[in-house]
Order: sequence, then structure tokens, then C-alpha cells
Amino acid sequence: MPVVDVNTKLVGLLGNPLGHSFSPAMHNKAFETLGLNYFYLPIEVTADDLPTVAAGIAKMNFAGYNITIPHKIRIMDCLDAIDPLAQAIGAVNTVVLEKGHATGYNTDGEGFVRSLEAESGMTVDGKRYFILGSGGAARAIAMTLAFKGAQKIFLCNRTEQKAHDLAVEINTKVSPCSEVVPRDPARMASAVQQADVLINTTSIGMHPEEDRIPIESDLIPAGVIVSDIVYNPARTKLLQVAEAKGCKTVPGLGMLVYQGTEGFRKWTEAEPPVEVMFEVVRALKG
Ligand code: NAP
Repeated sequence: MPVVDVNTKLVGLLGNPLGHSFSPAMHNKAFETLGLNYFYLPIEVTADDLPTVAAGIAKMNFAGYNITIPHKIRIMDCLDAIDPLAQAIGAVNTVVLEKGHATGYNTDGEGFVRSLEAESGMTVDGKRYFILGSGGAARAIAMTLAFKGAQKIFLCNRTEQKAHDLAVEINTKVSPCSEVVPRDPARMASAVQQADVLINTTSIGMHPEEDRIPIESDLIPAGVIVSDIVYNPARTKLLQVAEAKGCKTVPGLGMLVYQGTEGFRKWTEAEPPVEVMFEVVRALKG
């Protein structure tokens, strides 16, 4: 148990409910590893209380906080400044406090990019992406890829209107690189053939429905890098099928850890102990 004293810098996690989060253990182990006098604590907050809690935290010895479901959008009304990428994504998951001034960031997309680059060896700029899904995680990933110079982002979603709305936002706010692909096998096959990376951002394949796959295996070409942001199970059916075809694969755990390393870096200005953070999350997942 770390010693918490009057000089301890606090970092919070605001959400509701918080029972399942890996973040407190991951960050506290990282602070301890580097000998930093920081402590990360979960704080369950209702939507009604969020503005009061955010204002109170800004007056206390907090370096910042993470925000999770269901407050990632509502918190934006409680901040002094919002980073342009978080503004484009339309959600904040990380807040940095400097002398009471609160700045909001979104590190989900950056976490995805760091994981993809670290685990596949590629760099994201100038590449073509096929994204399954158009929910919150897809928004963060697609906007971040567009900010980082993606050449093409194909979006394919069960509710096509949501893919269309996201593509319009990417094309108008960042760069005209996004295109909607209808959920028709021939249209999907043609787009995936053009892609360097196929990314599943839907919840299909997540425990307990581990036998499900978000795209027919016939549509996955052998040369594409396949990334699945679902991290429970660690190796989804999609990744297993892709591996059997000889594709490079990128599991979802990395995005989870790296979205945290980006917050850690902002709060402490120290280089995060990435491997320690991975070990904590792997151990908690069992
Ligand atoms: P979300 O906003 O609710 O979006 C869910 C997406 O999945 C939507 O595009 C939805 O399509 C699609 N979907 C759900 N069920 C489907 C089905 N039966 N058939 C076809 N499409 C379906 O959720 P989210 O926050 O983006 O999270 C999505 C997944 O990513 C979850 O499994 C979550 O655990 C994971 N995730 C991982 C990380 C990480 O760090 N690795 C971070 C964030 C999220 P519709 O629009 O048609 O409903």
C-alpha cells in the first residue's frame, strides 16, 4: 500500500458503475514502479453530480482524471479547454489539471494507434483502413487515424446511417478520406481488398459470445493486418481465423493499456512503464 500524504498527487477515475475497471491497479503499479508520489482512485459519480465533482476536483491536489461510461460526453461542459482531436471525436476520456485549469483529451484513438504500431511494426500515416462498426470506439479510432494522415477509411456498420454520419464528420472536420461501405458481401470484399488494416470495433466476439465473428472469413484477404479491439477474450475468433490465413493480428488489450499510458504521460510527464502496465492488466484478466 503506497504512503499517501499531503504532497501526493491524486488521479481520479470518474464513471458509474466502476467495479470492472483495470485502471486503478494499472496506474498505481506504474506510479509505484517509478517511485512517483501519485495515487489513482476510482470515484463513482452520478450524471447530476458530475459538474460539482469536476469543479471540486479542480480545486484539490489532483493532477487529473479519467472519465468513463457514461460521462465521456457530458464532462466536456465542465472543462476549461478541449484538445482539437477530442473535440472532433466529441468525447473526453482524460483530463489534465494545471493550477485548476482543466483540459480534456481523448486517448482512446491514440491508444489504438500506439498498439497497432507497436504490435504490427507499421506506421499509420498514408495507409488504408476498413473499420467494422461506427460506435464510440470507432469514432475515436477513425478520427485519430484521419488526424494522423490515413489515406482511406472505409466504414461499415449494421446501422448504415451511423457510418454515414461519422464519414461526413471525418470528411468535413479532418480530411476527405472516409467512405461508407454497405453490408453487402461483394462491396465489403472489394473494400477490404484495398485495405492495409481491417479493424473490428463492434462488440461481436466478446465474451460470452466468443464463437461469433464480425465479418465472414471468406472476405478476409491473407495480406491484411487484422485488429480486434475486443479484449475479452484476448484472442477472439476473428483473430484466430485471420491468423490461420497467415495475417498479422493485433489484439485489443494493447489499446486498453496504451490509452492509459497516454494519460499517465500527461499527468506525470514521465515515461510510462508499459510492460509493467501490461502485466497488471493481463494478471487481472486472468
Ligand atoms: P458502442 O458505442 O455501443 O458501439 C457498438 C458497435 O458495435 C456499433 O457499431 C454497433 O452497431 C455494433 N454492434 C453491436 N452489436 C452488433 C451486432 N450484433 N451486429 C452488428 N453490429 C453490432 O460500443 P463501443 O464503446 O464503441 O465499444 C465497442 C466494443 O469495443 C466493445 O466490445 C468494447 O468492449 C470494445 N472496446 C475496447 C477498447 C479497448 O481498449 N480495447 C476500448 C473501447 C471499446 P450499431 O450502430 O448498428 O448498433
